[in-house]
Formats: sequence, C-alpha cells, structure tokens
Amino acid sequence: MGKLAKWLRIMGFDTLFFNGSDDSGMIAIALAEDRVILTRDTQIMKRRVVTSGRLKAILIQSDKPELQMQQVIDSLNLDCQFKPFSICLECNQPLVERSEQQVKDLVPSYVFKTQSQYMECPACRRIYWRGTHWQAMTKKLEKFIKG
Ligand SMILES: [Zn+2]
Repeated sequence: MGKLAKWLRIMGFDTLFFNGSDDSGMIAIALAEDRVILTRDTQIMKRRVVTSGRLKAILIQSDKPELQMQQVIDSLNLDCQFKPFSICLECNQPLVERSEQQVKDLVPSYVFKTQSQYMECPACRRIYWRGTHWQAMTKKLEKFIKG
C-alpha cells in the first residue's frame, strides 16, 4: 500500500499513508478530513462507520501496485481530475513553483544545465524537476489512465 500511496501523490492526490496498527486513529482522521480509506484489511470494511456509509472505504483487491491503481482510479473516477507532480512524494505537501535562479545552488549542475522547470516542497525543501525519472513516470501514469 505504500507504493499505491506514492502513486496517488504522483498523480497529485492528497494522500496520507498509515502503516499498521492504529485503525481507530486512521478512521478518526478520515472522518475529520473527509477522506476515503483505501485498505486491504477486511476488518475495517466491517466497521459500523463504514457499513453505515458514514465513511467511504475501498477494499483493495490486488497486491500489485498497478492493479491497485487501476481499482482506485475506476472506483473513484479519478482519471479526469489528476494533476501530476503537484504534491511532495515524501510529505504530501503541495509543491511550489521555483525559478531557475531560486534553485541554482540547490540542484546538481548537470540538472541545472538541462532542466528549466522546478518545483519545491515547502516542508522538506526537496526540489523536483522534469528529468528522465519524471518522464518515465508520466508514461506509466498515462498507461494507468488509459487502462
Ligand atoms: Zn516534502
């Protein structure tokens, strides 16, 4: 599920990742922030808050990230609203656009020479740019969207 969370962030969706034990804490946050729970845990699906429809939850069927993405995109109709590379993959913060001058001393010189568009995470200060990794991910994303 960690990979799925990362992919959702790549698509630009505000995604929190909970690792493990505190189901009640996760449910409380989901209710407070109007989030949808994506889980592989059938116990969560049996909770009253879910069965009553107060909280939307999706039981993820596959353990393959590609199929998980497909299921989430299909069941939430995400394909037309995605905004790739707008959220930090590490801390789920919206990225801010930065000029070349602003990042000059922050990125490796080989990157600076070849790239002109940069985004920065205001929380962890990580700089994102449209390198080859980015292009590879965009290709993969398009495949998810088109099925
Ligand atoms: Zn960050």
